[in-house]
Amino acid sequence: MTYSRLDLKNKKRIVIKIGSSSLTHAETGSLNLSKMEKLVRVLTDLRNQGKDVILVSSGAIAVGRETVGLKEKPQDKSIKQACAAVGQARLMMVYQKLFAEYNQVPAQILMTKYTMINDISRENAQNTFEELLKMGVIPIVNENDTVSTDEIEFGDNDTLSALVAALIKADMLILLSDIDGLYTDDPRKNPEAVFIDYVDIIDDKLSEMGKDSSTSVGTGGMATKITAAKIATNSGADMVIANGENVYIINEIMEGNNVGTLFKANRDKDFILMDYIRTKQYS
Ligand code: GLU
Repeated sequence: MTYSRLDLKNKKRIVIKIGSSSLTHAETGSLNLSKMEKLVRVLTDLRNQGKDVILVSSGAIAVGRETVGLKEKPQDKSIKQACAAVGQARLMMVYQKLFAEYNQVPAQILMTKYTMINDISRENAQNTFEELLKMGVIPIVNENDTVSTDEIEFGDNDTLSALVAALIKADMLILLSDIDGLYTDDPRKNPEAVFIDYVDIIDDKLSEMGKDSSTSVGTGGMATKITAAKIATNSGADMVIANGENVYIINEIMEGNNVGTLFKANRDKDFILMDYIRTKQYS
């Protein structure tokens, strides 16, 4: 292997995605404040090292659902959207409060697929990201779940975070999940499943390994992570999937330690992000 994990130390623009299951307590669905506190500290510290940091945070629907007292994951679109309206505001309130402790300014960017498809909206979003990063702000991105419809929704934040990474030409994407990384099979069902720590090329065999294994809280399974890896690596970013149970794993990744699964950047000059978004079904 000619590639060294230590190269990750030199990454300059990092998108980090955290899923709903990593942000909430499994028992109650309430926000895991001590984990969010640590996450905010780690992100601020990456900023303090002079890196551009973008957080893609799920949790709007899960937090909204808990706030309004719904026991089950809502199926009805309008209920999900109402939960998202409550939860997104609450989520940002907590992030604002935690970032303020470190004098770090966050910002909220809510997107739909339309933001990416429409040339003017996409360029506007791109410019906004650039300005925020120049100001030293940490953008916090989510899908605009309150208004998105089937036609214009990304559906999962794994895909959204990879598209954001491609849009802003990030050189690194970290997906924090409730699984350690990629296995040859679903380790929760097959004890013989073997962990894969490095992926050079995403071929059909590998895509097959990413069978869906979605959780009760979030939306993405391994299949959406492989899709994200294709988008990120084709657009020139390395991607790591790691377990978000301990958010200090972000530091380990950035120090070049062998944790999670690393998908090596593999820029494809024929990969045109817009064509991909327009034509692909994501999952
Ligand atoms: N945008 C959704 C939310 O904030 C999460 C999507 C996902 O879990 O990937 O609730």
